[in-house]
Amino acid sequence: METLKYLVGYPPHVLARVQALIEQGRLGEVLNNKYDQLHAVRTDGQLYDYVQALKERHLRQSVPLGKVLYDSKLQVMKHALGTHTSISRVHGGKLKASREIRIATVFRDAPAEFLKMIAVHELAHLKEAEHDKAFYRLCTHMEPDYHQLEFDMRLYLTHLEAGAR
Ligand SMILES: [Zn+2]
Repeated sequence: METLKYLVGYPPHVLARVQALIEQGRLGEVLNNKYDQLHAVRTDGQLYDYVQALKERHLRQSVPLGKVLYDSKLQVMKHALGTHTSISRVHGGKLKASREIRIATVFRDAPAEFLKMIAVHELAHLKEAEHDKAFYRLCTHMEPDYHQLEFDMRLYLTHLEAGAR
């Protein structure tokens, strides 16, 4: 059985089911049936507005957003979940932080739900650095279906990669 690199850490019976779908050539179909909504967030400006609107709704109190952009150089393999850079500079003893959010370009053409999932993930990092309980609590606060979406997004990346071979 091939390693499913986007699904490392999921239980063996789950992986076996995914593997079976791949072998039957049905993974894409299953995903398409479930996620048939595209989104219209095409440019970095639109992406900024989109992320900012989510932040306004759920995380008004956290640090302001810096840049928000699609990044075609993000390696989906290494950073499947985007990166969240904290740019901190010390000014006369005071720490000033602004937050830059980069989202892999693959999400520009992904179903709407996956863009939302990745945006929620990156926004949650404004408050929680680690992938711990507090972090995922925040994710599910912003998107109740977060865990399912993250899993399905990993399936989506697995499918894209299989198609590209
Ligand atoms: Zn993360």
